Amino acid sequence: MFCPQCLALRDATPGDCCPRCKRALCRMQDENGAMSRDYLLARKACCGSGCRNCPYDPTRSDTRNSSQ
Ligand SMILES: [Zn+2]
Repeated sequence: MFCPQCLALRDATPGDCCPRCKRALCRMQDENGAMSRDYLLARKACCGSGCRNCPYDPTRSDTRNSSQ
């Protein structure tokens, strides 16, 4: 489990809160052992490992904007 606020990793059970931030702790991994989207979002950066739950679009590194 981890705190989405301070990213502290904690041994906790679902429903526990970070004692420092009072934020509900989130699971670091999904049921398949892959990094959870919550954790990747909280890190605010893509690790570039092609995580299954990556909330970031890897093609975004290409600054070309073809929205027209
Ligand atoms: Zn915290």
